[in-house]
Amino acid sequence: MPVGTLAAVKALDPDDLTQMGATMILANAYHLHLRPGDEIVHAMGGLHSFMRWNRPILTDSGGFQVFSLARLRTINEDGVEFQSHIDGSKRFFTPESVMRIERNLGADVIMQFDHVIPGQSDEPSARDASERSIRWLERCLAEVKQLDAQDRATAAMHAPADHTATRQHSKPNRLIAPRQALFPIVQGGIHGNLRREAATSIASMRDWAGFGIGGLSVGEEKEAMYAMLDIASEALPAGRPRYLMGVGFPEDLVEGIRRGVDLFDCVAPTRMGRNGTVFTPEGRLNIKRTEFRTDPRPLDADCECSACARFTRAYIRHLFVSDEILGLRLLSLHNVHFLLSLARSARQAIKRGDFDSWSRDWLLRYRAATPIAV
Ligand SMILES: [Zn+2]
Repeated sequence: MPVGTLAAVKALDPDDLTQMGATMILANAYHLHLRPGDEIVHAMGGLHSFMRWNRPILTDSGGFQVFSLARLRTINEDGVEFQSHIDGSKRFFTPESVMRIERNLGADVIMQFDHVIPGQSDEPSARDASERSIRWLERCLAEVKQLDAQDRATAAMHAPADHTATRQHSKPNRLIAPRQALFPIVQGGIHGNLRREAATSIASMRDWAGFGIGGLSVGEEKEAMYAMLDIASEALPAGRPRYLMGVGFPEDLVEGIRRGVDLFDCVAPTRMGRNGTVFTPEGRLNIKRTEFRTDPRPLDADCECSACARFTRAYIRHLFVSDEILGLRLLSLHNVHFLLSLARSARQAIKRGDFDSWSRDWLLRYRAATPIAV
């Protein structure tokens, strides 16, 4: 999922994303609640209509942002009081209020509100946050059911008495997703027993449409992340998508898919693209380096994106060095395309039945060259 935190994938138009084959994008409830406000998005017909994106959207609940961006947090069982990172205004998030925000935004998949802790937290703090997240999950679910019931009542009230008459008007707010899938989030830091307990306890609550795996790639060693993924993957039911939250470097995608992950998001392709970092099958390179000054090759010879189809490294380097906006846009196009096509190749390999050898070869090639990177 390309990341459109504020209902825009930075430097890209929704048409670019459609052309590149993006099937789902991510937006963020914390950010959109603060600006422009979820009520405004709702009044404009929901996120799909507001940002003109007619494919699935997932909203993150803002748990991560409340604990990483906002200031002066007070956490209690009811929720979290914090100060907006924009204007310092005091806010209070509860599992219920966040579900109402996500309902206003109208994404197809909504993440539960969770208690996020730093990656290296000790076991008692990780346990406390994980268990609280599960209690908050129950409250999220109850609120979503309540909101669904309200929506059904409103729909029934507005439905014409004669059902054969104006059927197309019988669905109120058609632009807002009629049903939202609530995804729980498996927490537990880097403590295998906590991850296993959380996954087992969440999976036993009900038949969820999918699962988030949160609190990884936040400063821990890669090996610790892979170990946690192995554990979560084993404990979660098969046949439901697993979403590894906030993780999306090329090598993480391949390693995650090896461990059963289906969904990823990461700001890296656009954020790093804006710093001049280019993803290639031979690792990352920085386009600002002098060696590219007269390089006539595309960013990546294997890539079919519209930047690689037309422009040389020398030209894109020139754009970066001259602070031309087009440079940022071209690298964002390329990097997002790179990850989408990597995921497509992985899916094809899975279908062919040779994902194991495909992924080994891919990682070998990528890692062999990575030290020249950035
Ligand atoms: Zn490209």
